[in-house]
Amino acid sequence: MSLASFPPAVHVRAPGKINVYLGVGGRHDDGYHALATVFQAVSLYEDVIARERDVFSLSVSGAVDADAVPLDDRNLAMRAAKALAAETGYAGGVHLELRKNVPVAGGMGGGSADAAAALVACDALWGTGCSPQQLHAIAARLGADVPFALHGGTAVGTGRGDQLNPALARGRFDWVLVTSERGLSTPAVYGRLDRMRNENGALADDPPLSLDVPIPVLQALRAGDAHSLAASMFNDLEAAALRERPALDATISAGLQIGALSGIVSGSGPTVAFLCETPESARYVQGELQTAGHEALHVHGPVPGARIISA
Ligand code: ATP
Repeated sequence: MSLASFPPAVHVRAPGKINVYLGVGGRHDDGYHALATVFQAVSLYEDVIARERDVFSLSVSGAVDADAVPLDDRNLAMRAAKALAAETGYAGGVHLELRKNVPVAGGMGGGSADAAAALVACDALWGTGCSPQQLHAIAARLGADVPFALHGGTAVGTGRGDQLNPALARGRFDWVLVTSERGLSTPAVYGRLDRMRNENGALADDPPLSLDVPIPVLQALRAGDAHSLAASMFNDLEAAALRERPALDATISAGLQIGALSGIVSGSGPTVAFLCETPESARYVQGELQTAGHEALHVHGPVPGARIISA
């Protein structure tokens, strides 16, 4: 069925992300930190199926802790659908079925992927015909990571993480993700970082309010060079995430010992992302980590952003 005839159901898929670099600067007056980050969309996906309804409703399933996902207006996908309706004057509703694979509160932007998928799905379902720029503007109002989930690929985020510019990335990077059953609260990890910086007199003064991504990170991505990227990956939130969840330290050591090139906490954690040299070495690292009792997934990036699977 063509989009023009406004189908009764639209299925959209959107990727989770890892931050291959995350620099955190000072806190602006509005409470947001200055960020310089590089997102990469990876092949761990959220599926959102939107169906025509008179009211707004939502259901959640998938290989994650679905009980931790709100079903009301706190859900980012629900907020996305309502924001699109308000923006376009659409008077009906929608049922959003979320099939989640991205760990909840895992530092991989699962909620943001759901929101991006919901925007694309509802726009097609309702025939509201928004331009990419309009969808981007709504996405940016929903949260700093939502525009990236729309676009996918590899991108630099500056400002509060919301000023997005595509980054050139050649080839493919193989990652092994070690997920945790329990998530970490993003505000708790940022709060921990602030306290750690305050404890440390030397840093307490003024973390910068404007940051850049270091050139070696961008060069490594442009060259498609996993070794160089492994040497330049960094996350300012990692120390804080490790304080909140000390067991992650042993996880990182385990992956490095097995042969990953580098391991990093993704975003605010607790997911740990290991960069591997080849698909084969990633499969080996994944297998060994599983044998050691970890939940380990082999994914690759970059992959495209939110896209329609069927309509
Ligand atoms: P953040 O984007 O805040 O860094 P994250 O990527 O670590 O978060 P998410 O799974 O996106 O983790 O969601 C974090 C919190 O947001 C969850 O604990 C949950 O309470 C709430 N939430 C809202 N909408 C969703 C959604 N669609 N899926 C998962 N969690 C959601």
